[in-house]
Amino acid sequence: MKERELIDMIAARADSGSGILRSIGDDCAVIGGEGGRVWLLTMDTLVEGIHFDTGWHPPELLGRKTVSVNVSDVAAMGGAPRFVLLSVALPSTVAGNWIARFVDGFTSACRDYGCHLIGGDTVASPAGITLSVTAIGEAAADQVLYRAGARPGDTVWISGPLGLAAAGLELFRAGLGQDEEILRPLFTAHLDPRARVDLGRRLAASGLVHAMMDLSDGLATDLAHICRQGRVGARVRADRLPRHPGLTRAASLLGRDPVAWMVSGGEDFELLFTAAAGDAPALEQLAAAAGLHVHAVGKVVAGEGVVLVTPGPDGREVEDDITFGGYEHFSAAGRE
Ligand code: ADP
Ligand code: MG
Repeated sequence: MKERELIDMIAARADSGSGILRSIGDDCAVIGGEGGRVWLLTMDTLVEGIHFDTGWHPPELLGRKTVSVNVSDVAAMGGAPRFVLLSVALPSTVAGNWIARFVDGFTSACRDYGCHLIGGDTVASPAGITLSVTAIGEAAADQVLYRAGARPGDTVWISGPLGLAAAGLELFRAGLGQDEEILRPLFTAHLDPRARVDLGRRLAASGLVHAMMDLSDGLATDLAHICRQGRVGARVRADRLPRHPGLTRAASLLGRDPVAWMVSGGEDFELLFTAAAGDAPALEQLAAAAGLHVHAVGKVVAGEGVVLVTPGPDGREVEDDITFGGYEHFSAAGRE
């Protein structure tokens, strides 16, 4: 069973209740608050051997990442993070010093994002470390941005280059490139990603954005979520995806296709959003004020599914269905 089928199955069994403005299905649950405010609640779990490897992940940076991946879901709704709860399941082999360094990193990220660690749980694990966080954020009720809402004709935007974290992880796994300056942003993207809180809040306040989420599972999958919830389709242009020079270098080192990383690589934690085509200059200005550059990479269309359009050498365009596309599916298309 695929992850989204499991979540659909769980969602079908959950009750709704008063005060719940949005439950399962978006980056955060949205709960009505006081004075025109809402609470945003989300949780994410990192599992040793799946999400991180203590062999190359310094505990301080893992602590930071554990906060960032959760805060990113608050940013994805246009909210401000306020509180976090931390649950750790630890095998007896973990040193006390490792935990202290992890928590130092965790609290340093909390300070950066303006939120506070207020509770959690500590349990033993038979094998492997598991880290779960609940993040609680806040937003103005009339500014929250949902995954649903994309309209045909909208431009599809991303808040930064994609594929860096996936490429950085593969370089760590292969034990390659650690001394190359050009690859440093790829390693940082995997070890210590930043949640786009400031940009998310500015986008929410602007009133220009129709749909938004954060990119945790790769553009092919996450844009498919926006399409499914908005009952629309999308076309992404491969030649509009910003390509980091380190990604090109990593691709040649590992014999990989950089476009596959940009389209299917996860854990970038950039924002993905749609807005009317005419609002491009305003959005670019707004991002610049947040110190970021946003990239228009495609458009929303009537219909369903996500198509990747690649200009061919003979001027013809190649179209690939990348809806919910994972890396294997995508590399099978043999693009190079
Ligand atoms: P994200 O990648 O933004 O963290 P997920 O893909 O993990 O989002 O989850 C999608 C939606 O499904 C979210 O609303 C999340 O709260 C919900 N969800 C995921 N797993 C469960 C679960 N075990 N029980 C209830 N809701 C879940
Ligand atoms: Mg998310």
